[in-house]
Amino acid sequence: MDERPITPNVQDTEKALEAGLRPTDWDGYFGQTTVKENIQILIEAAKQRDEALDHVLLYGPPGLGKTTLATIIARQMGVNLKITSGPAIERAGDLAAILTNLRRGDLLFIDEIHRLGRAVEEVLYPAMEDYALDIVIGKGPSARNIRLKLPPFTTMGATTRLDLLASPLRDRFGAIFRLEFYSPQELQQIVGRSAAILAVPIQPDGAFEIAKRSRGTARIANRLLKRARDFAQVRADGVITKTVAQEALELMNVDPLGLDDLDRKVLHSIIEKFGGGPVGLETIAASISEESSTIMDVVEPYLLQLGFLARTPRGRVATPHAYAHLGLAVPDRPEQPSLF
Ligand code: ADP
Repeated sequence: MDERPITPNVQDTEKALEAGLRPTDWDGYFGQTTVKENIQILIEAAKQRDEALDHVLLYGPPGLGKTTLATIIARQMGVNLKITSGPAIERAGDLAAILTNLRRGDLLFIDEIHRLGRAVEEVLYPAMEDYALDIVIGKGPSARNIRLKLPPFTTMGATTRLDLLASPLRDRFGAIFRLEFYSPQELQQIVGRSAAILAVPIQPDGAFEIAKRSRGTARIANRLLKRARDFAQVRADGVITKTVAQEALELMNVDPLGLDDLDRKVLHSIIEKFGGGPVGLETIAASISEESSTIMDVVEPYLLQLGFLARTPRGRVATPHAYAHLGLAVPDRPEQPSLF
């Protein structure tokens, strides 16, 4: 299990905390304004027509609020929410069992939907399109196909990798939304709300300090808040001030922009081992003994967003901003071809 303080993936030990902090209505759900407005319209329209909500696909880095959105939608629609994930549905029969237990209008949330197996996907297609479940009874020449009707329901897919989704699956979603990284101001609101729920005294600039270092991710903001709370309790008088937040996060090696050791390792590798790039993702991963999927899903999106990294057809390139942040001199004639 990844124990980096700034991994956006949920850690086993924090599931209870997550559940307690997860907003259940729109008032507690900050940011993501475009997605929020669009979904509110979908909900209103479906309610007026007394239909199940259209199938919705959400994509974006982990920890930005996809599961939270599913929770809020189910509540707004007054339906049950069934949460599962691509890797959890191993066989077609597993999905069939889930589908036959759904009731009219229910919301089926499939996290990491890009990791569904082919055979499982084949079951999902008619279910999404015609609310039908095709099953084969018997074996050999006497085998028969029968089609079971399912109640109208909504599939909500979530993925960090839209590019890995089979296009027939993608096409079956009526609405596709991308979740964005949060601004520090939005994260400050999220931290403020969570601190109130946890009854942690926090000053606005303390909340802002945590927000700035949370790499645009709600889950990380909540996690850093918890660590800052412990620090405030043990090393200060319990209140999270700006200084307390700074000291707590520095102790965790989270720098002022939210980068941690792994981010810095990736940048140092590109700059020091590969002359600033371009260098392929697999090569970077091998050079620091890390999974390339971790770098792609977790490290890279934020470095791209900061403008520290550029993707070129020939590989990743460290930008002058990255050199500056690490306190390194930009080479006079960097061996970098044009970025485009
Ligand atoms: P994802 O499913 O995208 O990985 P989650 O929905 O599990 O992310 O969100 C992680 C945590 O971040 C949740 O516990 C929730 O408290 C918090 N969170 C996410 N988005 C928001 C938001 N827009 N406003 C407030 N809190 C949020």
